[in-house]
Amino acid sequence: MPEEKNGGSEPAEGPVDIPQNGESTEPVETPAESTAADDIKPDIREISCSNCGAPLSYMEGEAVITCEYCGTTTMLAGYDNIVTVESHFLLPPKVGRDEAIGIASGWLKTGFYKSKDLPNKVTWRKTEARVLPYWIVRCTGNTRWSGMQKGTKTLGEGKNKKTETCWEPVQGRITEDYTWPVYAREDTSEFWGIRNIEPGKQCVFPDWGRFIFRLGGSKKAPNKDLLEGKMDFSIDELKKANMHEHIINGQITQERAETSAGNRIIEMHQEKVESKATKITDVDTTIDVQGVDLVYLPVWELVYNFAGRDYSVLVDASRQEVLSGEAPVGKWAKATIFDIIFLLIAAIFAVIASISEGAAWPWIATGVFGVSAIAYTIWTATMKE
Ligand SMILES: [Zn+2]
Repeated sequence: MPEEKNGGSEPAEGPVDIPQNGESTEPVETPAESTAADDIKPDIREISCSNCGAPLSYMEGEAVITCEYCGTTTMLAGYDNIVTVESHFLLPPKVGRDEAIGIASGWLKTGFYKSKDLPNKVTWRKTEARVLPYWIVRCTGNTRWSGMQKGTKTLGEGKNKKTETCWEPVQGRITEDYTWPVYAREDTSEFWGIRNIEPGKQCVFPDWGRFIFRLGGSKKAPNKDLLEGKMDFSIDELKKANMHEHIINGQITQERAETSAGNRIIEMHQEKVESKATKITDVDTTIDVQGVDLVYLPVWELVYNFAGRDYSVLVDASRQEVLSGEAPVGKWAKATIFDIIFLLIAAIFAVIASISEGAAWPWIATGVFGVSAIAYTIWTATMKE
């Protein structure tokens, strides 16, 4: 492909003219026929890569376009404003399809909530490679807050003793550094798992089936540094893993990413502050941005089937770990939770029975709950998972 331009292998430096298409820095308005006929379909447009000249097609609305031949990334920040993204990184992919399934299988059998032999009982249905664009906003969120704390004080002595409510002014500060990831596309539901990897969002989803005591098992995405382990963007690295054809273009420009990260951090600090005092009267957050980088994250989206249901797992192909996943809760985890709850209730009735001498009903209740726990355990043992 890239052989077509410049008559050779030398990449042109920067946005210079390309022989067969003089305006390499102008978006070529391919969709001349943008009439009512294809209103529903998004327009496919084309520009030339400013480095190698290869034609880059993109969908209308996409603003961050990476050349799959040479790896140069171009950002369309409004008309006439086409820039090459310099701070451009890649988390190099280290696992292919089979290894990704291996990582997901390992995850499927770890932890209290999952059954140890779950990986042997699932069928892998879908494996999809994607190289996702993220803007990483390196910034500090600084919040000053003030409010009133409700308290009580005791007045008087002896018979005249009484307590009164009183309010005390309180204030504080929250300062935290972030490498906040902003997914560079509008629709986070387009691909499974994207919305779960934002810091603080639920990323592990246990499937309890019809079990009612749903205690724990879910997990929130950590605030981790997506830039850790990064290298300068290299198309060759992606080619090695056969992932270069799966680069997803971004739609969100750098400027919008900054604003969006700032807003989310302001929201998050606001939530944190709510718990600091009875009444918050003032919150002020400032965001200090140190820099913004574009990083591509290679992932595998896997879908497996278990007992007639499909579940998804998202594997980080660079760090070789599960980023987000759904899994059925194992029968023994359910039995353990059930037994703990029922045996606790049985114990409470046993205590009541021992202090209320003579009454038979607390002993009966103790027996009912105790036997239920045993029965549930036996039923679990016979039931197939
Ligand atoms: Zn190129």
